[in-house]
Amino acid sequence: MFEYAPAPESRSVVDLKPSYGLFIGGDFVEPGDGGSFKSINPASEEALAEVAEAGPGDVDRAVRAARRAYDEVWGPMPGRDRAKYLFRIARIIQERARELAVLESLDNGKPIRESRDVDIPLVAAHFFYYAGWADKLGHAGLGPNPRPLGVAGQVIPWNFPLLMLAWKIAPALATGNTVVLKPAETTPLTALLFAEICQQADLPPGVVNIVTGAGATGQALVEHDGVAKVAFTGSTDVGRQIARSVAGTRKRLTLELGGKAANIVFDDAPVDQAVEGIVNGIFFNQGHVCCAGSRLLVQESVYDEVLAALKRRMAQLRVGDPLDKNTDVGAINSAAQLERIRTLTEIGSAEGAQRWSPPCELPARGFWFAPTIFTGVSQTHRIARDEIFGPVLSVLTFRTPAEAVEKANNTPYGLSAGIWTDKGSRILWMADRLRAGVVWANTFNKFDPTSPFGGFKESGYGREGGRHGLEAYLDV
Ligand code: NAP
Ligand code: MG
Repeated sequence: MFEYAPAPESRSVVDLKPSYGLFIGGDFVEPGDGGSFKSINPASEEALAEVAEAGPGDVDRAVRAARRAYDEVWGPMPGRDRAKYLFRIARIIQERARELAVLESLDNGKPIRESRDVDIPLVAAHFFYYAGWADKLGHAGLGPNPRPLGVAGQVIPWNFPLLMLAWKIAPALATGNTVVLKPAETTPLTALLFAEICQQADLPPGVVNIVTGAGATGQALVEHDGVAKVAFTGSTDVGRQIARSVAGTRKRLTLELGGKAANIVFDDAPVDQAVEGIVNGIFFNQGHVCCAGSRLLVQESVYDEVLAALKRRMAQLRVGDPLDKNTDVGAINSAAQLERIRTLTEIGSAEGAQRWSPPCELPARGFWFAPTIFTGVSQTHRIARDEIFGPVLSVLTFRTPAEAVEKANNTPYGLSAGIWTDKGSRILWMADRLRAGVVWANTFNKFDPTSPFGGFKESGYGREGGRHGLEAYLDV
């Protein structure tokens, strides 16, 4: 085991204000009928800033501002001109990448290595990608003259705050819609910095509006009559409520919900590479990943070998300060999420699965959970069925490819899956049978703006990313 000297990233690039208003009609404004709340750093429990909470009147103001911008400026603007704004935003994101990465790690708890090397580069890539589509919509294979829908009401979760914003805002603007977006209550700060970037890019007022708040703000937004399209990423429970409230209206809806992905390792897979993929699949972003490989299915003949290698690798994971460049696993995003992870893992032990974590010293303050695996898991165990959304892996075994398929598909979700094998024909055979929106082969958690992403079954409907992602925002 190596000794590492601390390698902290500097916080000084971030200029945090003591308080933030709502971003409506191009300006930061005080809430009319809401209150305020604090966003905290989950690694230290320190309050980072006071953030406005939008009430229904504020949401109404934001939707009206978005409608005005849609009717008067953004809807009529030629695609080639919309593209210029999106390219400009993408470039500013690159220029301010370090600031965005540090703020994301402060507010969310994720390691700086990930926010710097994964989140923010992908955010810029999304804006570049959809900027390129803005003047080519008639050639996207969606019909000759696709039209925007109007105001998009968008609600996102806390696990990839700025990346989920990019997945929502970039395609909506490229297709000529305007947006009102509600970030998650625990991670509003990078969305507010993005609002400043919209100002810096001279984006016409009202094209992007950010209303911060809790679930009630999100509910007011998705239920607002002026919203033509609802885009939601979050839990299956809230997704169900939203589907109910949108039913019978003319609103369009896409839902990106939870997952319980199988990561399947065959006996011919290169073990060391598979172990890297297993670790990336479940410990990346503290396991706060909707497409996390949270169920490991190992072929029985290599079970001992894979488990031994996995435990050796887990003992190397460095848990701690998200701003330290050596950190692999950061803080759990909130006290509530930590509680949920604890409850589900206690149920795992109570139901008879064997729990293991490497020796690992956790900081005294903040929200932390050691990387954990459960072996001896059966398909009926809660930890094999429920989305834990934390750094917890359930390990199951199989003997034949057919059994692997059956176990992988034995879940109400269907967002992603992973296959590790040396045989190309087996990859194709498996991918044909897995009921999951994304299937990775000999890799995991790879994202690209050109590639559509979305679920089967209770993981939601609609696709984000790629050419498919345009359709959700167009009348074709
Ligand atoms: P959540 O509770 O469903 O929250 C998601 C967002 O919805 C938050 O902004 C939340 O506000 C808001 N919200 C809560 N109640 C609402 C309501 N009644 N109407 C409208 N909006 C409401 O989910 P979460 O626990 O924050 O996020 C974790 C979940 O997201 C996991 O299940 C994960 O799998 C899923 N996820 C899916 C994807 C995907 O692409 N499929 C990506 C990331 C995450 P508050 O923040 O104030 O609660
Ligand atoms: Mg926070």
